Amino acid sequence: LMGLGLMANLNHPLDEDTLIMLADEIGVRINIKDTDHVSDEQEKEKRVGPKIVDKAADLQLRPPIITVMGHVDHGKTTLLDVIRQSRVAESEAGGITQHIGAYQVFINGKKITFIDTPGHEAFTAMRARGAQVTDITILVVAADDGVMPQTIEAINHAKAADIPIIIAINKIDKPNAQPDRVKQELTEHGLVPEDWGGDTICVPISALKEENINELLEMVLLVAEMEEIKANPNRYAEGIVIESELDKGRGPVATLLVKNGTMRIGDALLAGPVSGRVRAMIDDKGERINEAPPATPVEILGFSDVPAAGEFVEVLPDEKEARAVAEERKQALHQQDIQNESRISLEDLYEQIQQGKVKELNVIIKADVNGSIEALKGSLTKLGTEEVTVNIIHTGVGAINETDVDLASASNAIIIGFNVRPNTNARKYAEKEKVELRLYRVIYKAIEEIKDAMAGLLDPEL
Ligand code: GDP
Repeated sequence: LMGLGLMANLNHPLDEDTLIMLADEIGVRINIKDTDHVSDEQEKEKRVGPKIVDKAADLQLRPPIITVMGHVDHGKTTLLDVIRQSRVAESEAGGITQHIGAYQVFINGKKITFIDTPGHEAFTAMRARGAQVTDITILVVAADDGVMPQTIEAINHAKAADIPIIIAINKIDKPNAQPDRVKQELTEHGLVPEDWGGDTICVPISALKEENINELLEMVLLVAEMEEIKANPNRYAEGIVIESELDKGRGPVATLLVKNGTMRIGDALLAGPVSGRVRAMIDDKGERINEAPPATPVEILGFSDVPAAGEFVEVLPDEKEARAVAEERKQALHQQDIQNESRISLEDLYEQIQQGKVKELNVIIKADVNGSIEALKGSLTKLGTEEVTVNIIHTGVGAINETDVDLASASNAIIIGFNVRPNTNARKYAEKEKVELRLYRVIYKAIEEIKDAMAGLLDPEL
């Protein structure tokens, strides 16, 4: 590594390029596991339907599914609106758009699916359930404001999920816009723009003045092509619930994104502990449709109950079977509640390490000042051993909030608060999600406790 100009210790994470270079240098073969694949495996684990293995020949390119993230007021909603309107203008029907939680647009004859909820809350809530909906993230950064705390959060979320990021440098119409400053700040967070020799695509836009929106969408298509996002339209559908509610007139209503296969009227549905049968499907233009191919957002009527957002949905050959499995799951969930099964905690960390269940301790650090974060980060990372590494997946100045809990829940992490407290909602949410919060006032104490936990010496009363 030193030969490659890199100073690293045992616990230093290396990026893919370095790994490949290194492997080449010392003549070993490496296999880089992509996390997307892992999450698909997790999804598959939860499925009970016919285990269809898609042959490469059956796979076809499907539209990419995009989330828009970024700091508050940087223009996420404006951008999503502008893109949606361009679609309405183009469609001959010129009809009314329905808000069903996602929509599709046509660009150069190709489709792109957008999740219509800006921000990363929706994104992490889904990932907390092991569902990966998004293929690509557009990160909006206002050129007059630069990289802000939620920008950094979004970067960390996308990185944790291993999803490609396209930067939209927004508000370039403003006289005080400083796109180069944004690029500089992004570089500090590991995103080096293409024109600066890196591989992060940055598109300067004005969502308000509708400038460069097509260029941005073309970049989305380009990245989608490179990623080879594929699905098999000729099989039973699999998808993910992105929104759901109990409608007074229509009963349980859920918007799904079909990720693979084609959903049809009459299909038997299974979504976690909920079953059903597709009675009607409504698309993002409010029109009834009979089939929904991969990457289509579609509102579905016919669930027996309201499935949770982020739930994996599959079509089974038989409705009776779907009902039976749903019932079994309901019972199992009930049991789980009773056992109060918890996530990673310092108390049983040692045991989990010994059993080989845990190979890394993911940590989120929130503190009152940046200096403490740096100090904690440095010391905690050094605690890693051969058996378990310490990964700091996110840091931030300020109180522990719900987004932190979401990220912790999605990544099975613990949260360390240094001279900060969780806000009330975050505390309740952490309890519900069983995310461990540890609050400290002395750095030394925090390090001691984690060290002890890793060695199985943590005082059990704590
Ligand atoms: P969000 O919180 O990220 O969803 O941000 P919004 O889309 O609500 O935008 C925040 C404010 O910035 C609104 O007043 C928008 O009109 C304004 N805005 C968004 N995009 C642009 C832009 O490209 N140029 C200018 N000048 N203002 C914009």
